[in-house]
Amino acid sequence: NGEEEVKGGIAILGCGGTIASKIEYKTGAVYPSITPRELRLAFPALERWNVHSRRIFSLLSEDMSAYHWRLLADAIEEEIKGGSEGVVVMHGTDTMTYTAAAMSYMLQNLPAPVVFVGAQRSADRPSSENEMNMLNAVFSASQDLGEVAVCMHATTSDDYCHLHRGTRVRKMHTSRRDAFRSIGSSPLFAVD
Ligand code: GLU
Repeated sequence: NGEEEVKGGIAILGCGGTIASKIEYKTGAVYPSITPRELRLAFPALERWNVHSRRIFSLLSEDMSAYHWRLLADAIEEEIKGGSEGVVVMHGTDTMTYTAAAMSYMLQNLPAPVVFVGAQRSADRPSSENEMNMLNAVFSASQDLGEVAVCMHATTSDDYCHLHRGTRVRKMHTSRRDAFRSIGSSPLFAVD
């Protein structure tokens, strides 16, 4: 399932969603089936970091439940205890902020960053922001930060992302690439 046995560096965990999707050209439908490893191969720029990847499950995020939060929290704990310096979680955007908030409370005293990332537009669309979000998320996961955050496009252009606190972020629009906003607080930082 795309698992690799490398330790240290940045762990990329796959939960599914548009960022990890494949297109069926016959119907035009998009499925969350690409493995994190395939995604890494599709984005050679990721090679600049020491990354390894693992698929936890492959779901549209509306199909996730608290059961999946448990599985994800266990996998993140395993990665950090195994020596990963940071964790990136690929996740569907519809319930990403709920999972990020749940992880913020389930994973206490984090010694490393846990950064959620998704894409509003799938990889087959010229306006897809999946690569930019991914590279910025991996960069953020390599920073000196001990909390759960969400890394998503900050504007309608391809200029930078915002890193939002996991308990503060909300998805404010269905399709806009700048849909994720920090509510009642500022983003932690901008990253390009
Ligand atoms: N609705 C699906 C989900 O949240 C796909 C869309 C997306 O990834 O943003 O997983």
